[in-house]
Amino acid sequence: MDLLTASGMETAAPPVRRVRVLLPLPLASPYDYRVPDDMELEAGAYVEVPLGPRHVFGVVWAVGGPGDNWEAGVAANRLKPVIRRFDLPPMPEVSRRFVDWVAAYTLSAPGSVLRMAVSVSAALEDPKQLLAYLPSGDSPPPGFKMTDARRRVLALMEEDGPPRTPADLARDAACGIGVIRGLAESGLLTPVALRAQPRPPIPDADRAGPELSPDQAAAADALRAAVDARAYSATLVDGVTGSGKTEVYFEAIAACLKQGRQALVLLPEIALSSQWLDRFARRFGVRPVEWHSDLAGAHRRAAWRSIANGEAPVVVGARSALFLPYPDLGLIVVDEEHEAAFKQEDGVIYHARDMAVARAFLGGIPVALVSATPSLETLTNAETGRYGRIDLPARHGGASLPEVTLIDLRRPDSRPPARHWLSPILTQAMGETLAAGEQAMLFLNRRGYAPLTLCRSCGFRLQCPNCTAWLVEHRLSRRLQCHHCGYTDRLPETCPSCEAEHSFVACGPGVERVAEEVAQLFPDARVALMTSDTLVGPHAIQTVIEEVRAHKVDILIGTQVMAKGHHFPMLTLVGVVDGDLGLGGGDLRAAERTFQMLHQVAGRAGRESRPGRVFLQTHMPEHPVMQALAAHDRDAFLAAEADQRRAMDLPPYGRLAALIISGEDERQVDKLARDLARAAPQGDDLQVLGPAPAPLALLRGRHRRRLLLKTARGVAVQPLLQTWLGSVPIPAAVRVQVDVDPYSFM
Ligand SMILES: [Zn+2]
Ligand SMILES: [Zn+2]
Repeated sequence: MDLLTASGMETAAPPVRRVRVLLPLPLASPYDYRVPDDMELEAGAYVEVPLGPRHVFGVVWAVGGPGDNWEAGVAANRLKPVIRRFDLPPMPEVSRRFVDWVAAYTLSAPGSVLRMAVSVSAALEDPKQLLAYLPSGDSPPPGFKMTDARRRVLALMEEDGPPRTPADLARDAACGIGVIRGLAESGLLTPVALRAQPRPPIPDADRAGPELSPDQAAAADALRAAVDARAYSATLVDGVTGSGKTEVYFEAIAACLKQGRQALVLLPEIALSSQWLDRFARRFGVRPVEWHSDLAGAHRRAAWRSIANGEAPVVVGARSALFLPYPDLGLIVVDEEHEAAFKQEDGVIYHARDMAVARAFLGGIPVALVSATPSLETLTNAETGRYGRIDLPARHGGASLPEVTLIDLRRPDSRPPARHWLSPILTQAMGETLAAGEQAMLFLNRRGYAPLTLCRSCGFRLQCPNCTAWLVEHRLSRRLQCHHCGYTDRLPETCPSCEAEHSFVACGPGVERVAEEVAQLFPDARVALMTSDTLVGPHAIQTVIEEVRAHKVDILIGTQVMAKGHHFPMLTLVGVVDGDLGLGGGDLRAAERTFQMLHQVAGRAGRESRPGRVFLQTHMPEHPVMQALAAHDRDAFLAAEADQRRAMDLPPYGRLAALIISGEDERQVDKLARDLARAAPQGDDLQVLGPAPAPLALLRGRHRRRLLLKTARGVAVQPLLQTWLGSVPIPAAVRVQVDVDPYSFM
């Protein structure tokens, strides 16, 4: 453009157009870039921008305009231009607000949250188009020679059939690619461009679902009404195991599909949920789009694009699925809302259930929180009227609740023999179950052979060199393992402390040791072991589940990986080897979690017409958790638990936030922890506890200290934390993690 007029006066250059781009990096704020003349950008556009010598993707967070005062930042002539914009619909405004909201709530960098929303940057690239062919219907040109191979290819191509790729045709017609090319050159095949990633199939909302009981139908009506209201609401769906909660929220999904909007279901462990996917397919005719960490490259890219394009009608995923940029989300379901797996403990520390409620609020949509053992947090919100509540009392299909027997391990007549772990009461019941041609399950939430290995001569215990943790013996793999950092070692021949030979003995049971005992007691029984060590990947789990369902297994032994919602019709006996496990420790939710887990395990027994029996081995039969389990009185347990927490102002009646200070240099870590304690916020309605060594005072070679901020329920902890952290310089070698609403106290 000619900048000089005829008179030689300089005209004003056109104003530089600026955008503020959020990068997926832990930066304090977005960066400014110049918009090239030939590019149009709006807020939410996915762009590629230079960052030092690199090119990175980012999302336009704001577009400059009159009165934005951005000139106070980088001078216009030093702004770098946006390189290109990706061919995708812009990230919706609600998704961008959600990123900022989560960042502010968790005290994380917005870019770190953005990274969860766009975790597969390769998906931003347009997928390659595939070449495919349709029959042209023309007659062969003069001189065309019809060979057998050419005839076979043409015969494969039906009229009105879908376009087919050369590779596909060559395979089915058993010919070379050259044959296909020849047909195309002679005009008998017409090339068409095929999407490399097919659209996800559309679930059929009108397909007839299973017959609902009156309770289920009423619950489904209530959830449908919430979807049709097209407004924010949060509803607890509280129903005992086997009451058919899934079928109920499927009806809400159907209502959402009829509106043409997207629905999201969050599951705690998606890899374990192929039964869930099958149920979905039975109701809607197709499987939903999955989103989880086991999803491999191309599938992951395809899933992300179909979600961002609005082509994925229903998405089922692990917690990270919440952050995906849905253009028109109409419903969120959080199934098993009480599960600890919804809490992410590294990177951006957040609880997906709580964030799901926030996302629903920002988007003006309903969220359903579903559980047989709701968390105290959610129950309290339902009791105060903040959340709606739907109860599903009965077990669907006439199944009755299992009979729960507490086995008092302190009594001589019910105690297992020395170096054994199963009470004679339990083993007798197992014998009866097997004799009746039914299945039994033993639950012990402890991997490996024995939790502790010590020297018989001097008492030396084998400990992980990187963590405050004992090494766990795994007899199947003949290794000692640290369950926190993955350190492994061989069992030493001589004790490193007293040099006694072959002096190490296993203390206490792990699942492998229980399996050994079962093999001695029931040598003819077919036994399957289900733990994360023996089951690698979702297919391995699926294989065992199918074997149990096909009754190729008599006794199933496992850790919590098998406690999930699997449905085994012939399973009528559940034995809990150590019901007290998990009740110790300084975790405020220990009792609640133990109750939830044991309740879920107990729910495995007798899910169809056969009555179930549950035997719970415990040293504390009088503990409220055990009493509540035996009496099937969940509400009495929760009421007692709530009273206790209320008296101590603990969540959900008060608020907590933790600071975890860690580093390799113990002195530096201690100094920062003390400095932070001195600068701690003060006030009538708050209290700072610590610094104290974390229970895992050493983890992966890093020393760890904890501080805990405890406040009244109404206090906004984020501004307090921000001021607190800003008041103390933090050395580069020491890390401070902020955990708002902590669930782990390790
Ligand atoms: Zn020794
Ligand atoms: Zn370790």
